[in-house]
Amino acid sequence: MAYDPENIFAKILRDEIPCDKIYEDEHALAFRDINPQTPTHILIIPKGAYVSSDDFTANASEAELAGFLRAVGQVARDAGLVEAGYRFLANHGQDAHQEVAHFHIHIFGGKNLGRMIKPVDK
Ligand code: 5GP
Repeated sequence: MAYDPENIFAKILRDEIPCDKIYEDEHALAFRDINPQTPTHILIIPKGAYVSSDDFTANASEAELAGFLRAVGQVARDAGLVEAGYRFLANHGQDAHQEVAHFHIHIFGGKNLGRMIKPVDK
């Protein structure tokens, strides 16, 4: 899938629409999810134009990969989530219900998150 520069996170990166920003560095921007699923729900996006985790892990430079993952850890630390625990995940594609086609990692925390996934029909 080609990257669409009009996706909502690209607009956030260009400051065309606002976000509740909590972290920014050379490689990453983090902001609060507009529809939080947990008391703390943060999105971290790379600054480069990558559609999804598949695109990012295949095509990002070593510096982008390392910088982005470091930022994820930093954001979780800054949010005070390390001691109690947190979860991060990325949705890729249809089966995972990825809604925004700019790679992002969700950080969930601030409560007991339960088991990782609910049992589903095979
Ligand atoms: P996905 O399903 O693609 O992994 O998750 C997309 C996430 O982006 C959703 O949790 C949704 O609430 C969030 N989101 C969608 N539009 C906006 C927006 O304009 N601002 C912010 N902060 N989050 C958004």
